[in-house]
Amino acid sequence: MSKYTVSIDISEAPEMTQLQADIQNMFNEFYPRLAEDLHTDGFEFPNHVSITVKKNLDYPGAADNDKIVFNGDWFTKNPEDMGCIIHEMTHIVQHYPTYDFWWIVEGIADYMRYEYGFQPDRSKPKAGGKYDDGYATSANFLHFVTDSHGKELIKTLNTALRNGTCSEEIFEQVTGKDVKTLWEEYQASFNS
Ligand SMILES: [Zn+2]
Repeated sequence: MSKYTVSIDISEAPEMTQLQADIQNMFNEFYPRLAEDLHTDGFEFPNHVSITVKKNLDYPGAADNDKIVFNGDWFTKNPEDMGCIIHEMTHIVQHYPTYDFWWIVEGIADYMRYEYGFQPDRSKPKAGGKYDDGYATSANFLHFVTDSHGKELIKTLNTALRNGTCSEEIFEQVTGKDVKTLWEEYQASFNS
């Protein structure tokens, strides 16, 4: 049995039993994968996650420490966005002490959801933006870099964020190229 457990409270949206089951299944499949893919020796993060499904929130979901709130209406209207569940679960596993380098924090959260096959068409790679825009832009950039330089970059950034030693220089330490050069290469890839 997995050491990871979840409780899913739908008392504010009692008809959403299908969403409850979907969240349970995604937790069972992907939380252990996140734990492994984002492993740092000696670093602890919550083994138990408390999820609450609400209605009429003005955002799809949010994570805080060991808790996630999801907007049930969001998934009814946007069934292609189930990867949002992976995004928020990633934040629980990240368990970073601060929100510094937020673009990397949000970039990794979307990176993991795309890595596991949950990338909506609207989030597919496209030219433009800045590397530190966060979310889809940063996630697609991270995928471009790991495609040619390996996934060690994600592990190294993740561990540095947990230890409070993150900096953009990690890109150069891991790949031999600084983040701006890598971004220029990414942008150039849309012209080839
Ligand atoms: Zn996020």
